[in-house]
Amino acid sequence: MMPNMSMAGSVHSHPTPNTNPSGADLALFARIGDHHIIVGAPYNKRSWKCYDRQGKSRVLDVLDIEFDKDEIEDDFKWII
Ligand SMILES: [Zn+2]
Repeated sequence: MMPNMSMAGSVHSHPTPNTNPSGADLALFARIGDHHIIVGAPYNKRSWKCYDRQGKSRVLDVLDIEFDKDEIEDDFKWII
């Protein structure tokens, strides 16, 4: 998360192919952001799902964007 952005959500993994949110996941989703990604085994391009703050599955477009290396380094200076 870049320092000049508001909290968009969260990303975490599950050790199995089950990407359904747990009770603890739903409690977290309700507190921050509105885009929460859960990645399940085998951790490939199709083994993840995105949820809203109520835990309902939602579509999340995946974009292929190249970042300017200098711009990224400038943003990380604020984190360090
Ligand atoms: Zn979880």
